[in-house]
Amino acid sequence: MLIDSHCHLNRLDLTNHNGDLTAALAFAREQGVSHMLCVSVILEDLPEMMAIARAHENIYVSTGLHPTEATSQEPNVEKLTSLASDPLVIAIGETGLDYYRCEGDITWQQKRFRTHIQAAKAIDKPLIIHTREAREDTIRIMQEENAQDPKGVMHCFTETWEMAKQAMDLNFYISFSGIVTFKNAKELQDIAKKIPLDRMLIETDAPYLAPVPYRGKPNEPAYVRHVAEFIAQLRGISFEEVAEKTTENFERLFLKR
Ligand SMILES: [Zn+2]
Repeated sequence: MLIDSHCHLNRLDLTNHNGDLTAALAFAREQGVSHMLCVSVILEDLPEMMAIARAHENIYVSTGLHPTEATSQEPNVEKLTSLASDPLVIAIGETGLDYYRCEGDITWQQKRFRTHIQAAKAIDKPLIIHTREAREDTIRIMQEENAQDPKGVMHCFTETWEMAKQAMDLNFYISFSGIVTFKNAKELQDIAKKIPLDRMLIETDAPYLAPVPYRGKPNEPAYVRHVAEFIAQLRGISFEEVAEKTTENFERLFLKR
């Protein structure tokens, strides 16, 4: 059993499945992917995401506004918590900081990040954090806002071992996407090798970032199997152990089991 802890089911490229999301989900189940967390990028996507989660089994949703998305309606804590009150919504995000894709004034990004942490605390649901080229500010804001209380995951992690440790000190999990399978991802592979298994999650971030051997092609939840297989090989442990541990971690963090 595998869980794709981060995908965007409403944005999949379904060419391989004749445009049929149900077929893509059936293929994922065939590959052993039992649960999926469909992550919000913009709040306008939520109705479609909720419809997908209601129509299929074991699909959960997060609610949040990605740090690089422009909006005319910046959400406040009340808005986020009311959107997250449905039991199918099990996380707040994705949120965080991205200085790579953002030029100029970044104070609004930081303010948005703080709002999401406050919402997660208020409703006691974990955070999904996106961070890119903003290591110090991300950790500082997590500390200042006491993000260890709702906890959460550093999704699609591509930063340093030092940052991974700082995030784990704040009760966070580290999630690896298909990037870990890329040839040039040596530093990330070292991190995936030494991180405690009880802090590891896996994800596709589909439709983006397909793992080897599908690199450059549209990604889908079924391919999380390749992430698990690669990490198992990297650590010299069985695929089953990676599958079992990352599933347990997901259930502990997001389903509070
Ligand atoms: Zn994502």
